[in-house]
Amino acid sequence: QAKMAGKNCFRYYNRAMDHAVERRLHLEQELRGAWDRGELRLVYQPIFRTRDRMLVGAEVLLRWQHPVLGAIPPTVFIDVAEQSGLIQQLGPKVLDAACHQARQWPRNASGEELFVSVNISPRQLRNGDLIGEVGRCLRSSGLAASRLHLELTETAVIGDEMLAASLLEKLHRTGVKVWLDDFGTGFSGLSHLRQVPVDGVKIDRSFVADLQRDPDDLALTTAIIAMAHALGITVVAEGIEQQGQFDLLEQRGCDLAQGYWLSRPLETDDLVRLIDATVIESC
Ligand code: C2E
Ligand code: MG
Ligand code: MG
Ligand code: MG
Repeated sequence: QAKMAGKNCFRYYNRAMDHAVERRLHLEQELRGAWDRGELRLVYQPIFRTRDRMLVGAEVLLRWQHPVLGAIPPTVFIDVAEQSGLIQQLGPKVLDAACHQARQWPRNASGEELFVSVNISPRQLRNGDLIGEVGRCLRSSGLAASRLHLELTETAVIGDEMLAASLLEKLHRTGVKVWLDDFGTGFSGLSHLRQVPVDGVKIDRSFVADLQRDPDDLALTTAIIAMAHALGITVVAEGIEQQGQFDLLEQRGCDLAQGYWLSRPLETDDLVRLIDATVIESC
């Protein structure tokens, strides 16, 4: 009896695995032509300065609306793009489009130019010509280098310190800013901040989520902010969904804030309207 059940179980498991592999391959095929078919688009999530609530920049997030499969989450298709190598074609397109769109944004109410923050996947770092791409995008768009921020994940950067050090050095020379995304999730964390030259860290939203309930998360967040500031590094908190979280982060001196409570990701036109609206309100 038990043996039978085990057998069935095994067979079921196998079929589920086949199905997952098939689905992945299918997604990969579909993703290959998705950009040219116009199924991919960029949205921008506003980033605010905590101190004065000023809109100071936005993060580009890729969206895929498949005609049959519907909306496919980035966590799924970015992974497919990364594993298959498709990210090598997709990444530069996102970077280029983001630089061109950001070039068109108006200044904020304080007269500052907004930055645009672009996610760079580990594979783009390892096998791509990131420095070349960044240079090309800046030149063709006319965007000032200081307005481009690149978000690299902590694990991708720390994983290969030699590469990281030389690459980050070169990136800095182009004038762009480098942020560590999802900071705190990799366990290397704070001690490595001294060795890798980054301009900012984004505290992962898993810490932000429990800020009000979990004293450990609050302690860690407070430590990250203090440590980063001691090293002259900017701190961004992502995934802020409630005012209580924002208030705690503000008290702790967190520099920048991003999350649904402040704004959902927006189409570029809506972002421009939001920048303009902020100007009108302050007049
Ligand atoms: P990420 O870079 O950490 O981006 C932040 C994610 O958190 C986004 O999810 C954003 O929509 C979501 N988010 C923002 N505020 C809140 C909030 O208050 N609550 C919650 N629960 N979530 C919030 P999204 O757009 O689904 O993207 C997921 C991940 O996919 C990104 O994580 C990033 O790693 C990757 N990704 C998205 N676009 C790109 C891209 O163009 N290139 C690369 N390489 N990766 C991308
Ligand atoms: Mg990011
Ligand atoms: Mg993140
Ligand atoms: Mg994340």
